[in-house]
Amino acid sequence: MPSGVLVFGEAVEGGGGLAPVTGELLGAAKSLGGPVTCVLLGAGVEGLAKECGALGADKVIVVDDEVLKDYQGDAYVHVGERICKEADPSVVLFGQTTIGRDMAPRLAARLGTAVAMDCVELSLDGEKLQASRSCYGGSARARYTINGTPQIATLRAKVYDPPERDDSRQAEVAKQSADVSADAIRTRIVSRRKEEVEGVRLEDAPVVVSGGRGLGGPEGFQPLEELAGILGGAVGATRAVCDMGWYPVAAQVGLTGKVVTPDLYIAVGISGASQHMAGISQVKNIVAINKDPEANIFQAARFGVVGDWKEVIPAFTEKVRELKAG
Ligand SMILES: Cc1cc2nc3c(=O)[nH]c(=O)nc-3n(C[C@H](O)[C@H](O)[C@H](O)COP(=O)(O)OP(=O)(O)OC[C@H]3O[C@@H](n4cnc5c(N)ncnc54)[C@H](O)[C@@H]3O)c2cc1C
Repeated sequence: MPSGVLVFGEAVEGGGGLAPVTGELLGAAKSLGGPVTCVLLGAGVEGLAKECGALGADKVIVVDDEVLKDYQGDAYVHVGERICKEADPSVVLFGQTTIGRDMAPRLAARLGTAVAMDCVELSLDGEKLQASRSCYGGSARARYTINGTPQIATLRAKVYDPPERDDSRQAEVAKQSADVSADAIRTRIVSRRKEEVEGVRLEDAPVVVSGGRGLGGPEGFQPLEELAGILGGAVGATRAVCDMGWYPVAAQVGLTGKVVTPDLYIAVGISGASQHMAGISQVKNIVAINKDPEANIFQAARFGVVGDWKEVIPAFTEKVRELKAG
């Protein structure tokens, strides 16, 4: 009889410790109840097992092997499949990360079950996982159940808080070898190019100041960068402006861009098309500045300013600067 929740944790590349998503996954797993097992795959990850215990894992399965140094679907899915078959969990959770997006569906196919991707809420009705996903550009939620075992889901970033850390808590740690032959890995990493980001990353920013077509041109982003800088935030953009080359595509927020979850999202000259709203559906505080009082963005905004951004943003920036100064 399958039981418990198995979480695939992640480490920050280059030995940067446990990735924040791991704590969030453990928080989600704890909320479902039952024993929680955390799996850590990688090279040099053994030292992170203790932290998983402090964050609520009852058991940690560590596969620390050079062959798992970089994410390679073939190797990770092979090891993940074996662990799932041995542990026989009722629920398996991944982050909606680069690894989770690739690995979860592949694992589901191998195990003959299904996966609910990009979930924003999870609960259990008896043994049945109820997985909610955002749909219609964030205007509605769809609830999924999975006919198959284990029930696999990937979780959107920042929808669950990590459990309170308790360093006195100790998890049972089980070490395993990867047992993957190099021949079984059909891909190899030829080179890496890291996107250079000045300041805080859009996905991690506590404040995002985003610009749309209403800015009138690429130069409109300069005052937004200034405001974001003062607020310790990052700059986002709509697809319309990225398509026109006004701002880098890496900053695009929405259905085909990034999903952001800052504490505060300032939307400047953005109409609020459903495809844009899909990227900010979890944001609690949206402030919209738009000269059209009928703009859709005002429906989702906590505060709205009807006006020309060219007047509002400099005045607002000045006020923030004053408040910061003292
Ligand atoms: C398959 C698909 C995927 C898509 N994915 C995305 C996505 O990921 N992200 C995304 O953003 N879009 C996406 N889109 C595009 C989306 O449908 C909209 O076209 C886009 O979001 C509109 O961008 P915008 O708000 O900048 O422009 P507009 O809709 O043109 O809005 C501009 C706004 O600025 C206001 N304005 C004008 N001048 C001023 C001023 N001086 N001061 C204040 N306000 C002013 C106007 O009143 C207006 O509301 C997608 C579309 C499709 C079909």
